Amino acid sequence: MRNLSRYLCLLALVVASSCTTATEAEQANNPEAGLEPWQQAEKSEVWEPVPPVVAAELGQAPSDAIVLFNGTDLNAWESASDGGEAGWLVEDDGALTVVPGAGGIRTRHEFCDVQLHLEWRSPAEIKGEGQGRGNSGVFLQERYEIQVLDSYENETYPNGQAASVYKQSIPLVNAARAPGVWQSYDIIFMAPRFDSAGALETPGTVTVLHNGILVQNHVEIQGTTEWIGPPQVHEHGCAPLYLQDHGDKVSFRNIWVREIN
Ligand code: MG
Repeated sequence: MRNLSRYLCLLALVVASSCTTATEAEQANNPEAGLEPWQQAEKSEVWEPVPPVVAAELGQAPSDAIVLFNGTDLNAWESASDGGEAGWLVEDDGALTVVPGAGGIRTRHEFCDVQLHLEWRSPAEIKGEGQGRGNSGVFLQERYEIQVLDSYENETYPNGQAASVYKQSIPLVNAARAPGVWQSYDIIFMAPRFDSAGALETPGTVTVLHNGILVQNHVEIQGTTEWIGPPQVHEHGCAPLYLQDHGDKVSFRNIWVREIN
């Protein structure tokens, strides 16, 4: 009887030992075996880097934005023709309006990759048609135009309507509001990259939301905006944002930019 007990004891030890060996082998092959679900979940958590906090109140520029126009002054802007005072009108209602003939204006600061927000309004009184109605433009790096145009029930060539990359990319939809109504553009622009010899290395890209609606989705920029002929590619560095005087009293407000690093 005593021998039987010893035998059973030894058998139990052997079984236990082999069980332990199997569990160790299993854990070696699968380190997560035996972990609680929350312990397994922790393994895919990334805790650094912690994003900086940005205040983003509705209708206001984010706290880390460069405010280019907030309704009061044109300190951030200059005449694009001679670098003098920007000759556009700051109106009582906080709008910045094109003075036809004054020429385009550009930021004093130069930008590379940006997130840009601005609001614009074509004149309430309808004058002209096609490209002659509420025409202005937002030129990224002074070269690449996102068209501003009264495209509300106003036929023109689609690659020149509001929110087109002018003469390069037709917007996905026409999200234009009526003349005299404020509209918004939110633009994400990645500037083109050039190699040390000045050749294009990576084309620029642009994404545009018109009144919150996606109209240009990571579109590759072919080169400079040209009225006549194909786009041109020339090496350049960071450059100002430029707003176009096309002879129409288009207004702007709430212009801010965030530099993408
Ligand atoms: Mg234009």
